[in-house]
Amino acid sequence: MPFSQEVRTRTLLWCDRHCCLCKKACGVNIEVHHLIPQSKGGSDEIDNAIPLCFECHSEVERYNSDHPIGTKYKVEELKIRREQVYEEFTRHLVPPVHYEITQMIPGRGKRTFPDVGFTITHLSDSLPVQLRIIIASQLMGSSQPIPSEHYSGKKLWNLNPRSSFSGHFKIPDSLVPQNDNLELRVTLSIIDQYGREHSQLSTGHIYMPERNDWYAEP
Ligand SMILES: [Zn+2]
Repeated sequence: MPFSQEVRTRTLLWCDRHCCLCKKACGVNIEVHHLIPQSKGGSDEIDNAIPLCFECHSEVERYNSDHPIGTKYKVEELKIRREQVYEEFTRHLVPPVHYEITQMIPGRGKRTFPDVGFTITHLSDSLPVQLRIIIASQLMGSSQPIPSEHYSGKKLWNLNPRSSFSGHFKIPDSLVPQNDNLELRVTLSIIDQYGREHSQLSTGHIYMPERNDWYAEP
């Protein structure tokens, strides 16, 4: 099976039809190549696809392990190079966003824990995006997502330019540590107009019961 039209369209948009190895602008002279060949069990999923120019395609295939000369392109290296090229050509679609965990309700005082507020703001006039938000409690070294569709990454949030959303969720008692500080980790992904998901590094937020407030912990 070849890649689906959707996989081909997305990968070609994400690299703006540039080769993911030599970064040449290819126009029609580009191929969506299987990183692991189908004959070796490679899938038709988007993670197994890489757009390459004709020269780089033959270069990647050319290496002969029975007669090694030079250094073979490994799949892991090709994936990292591909992600760098995708990032280069989709970065402009990702606006700055600001988010915070907060007990404040604007103009109305503070929430009562374990009800927790979450605010997110699109900080530019550029394009609308979708967001995947995962908030998890850290319990004895394991990460337990908040059981809510909006905060466990199951539902996407729509965020228009310069708009802001405030939501809240209740932390179940089972996710609040008994003798330790509660730490929530927030992982945010921004999904651009071409359907590419840009994951940010997670941030930690620790609850201070005596002040009914949070501080950030990198
Ligand atoms: Zn190339």
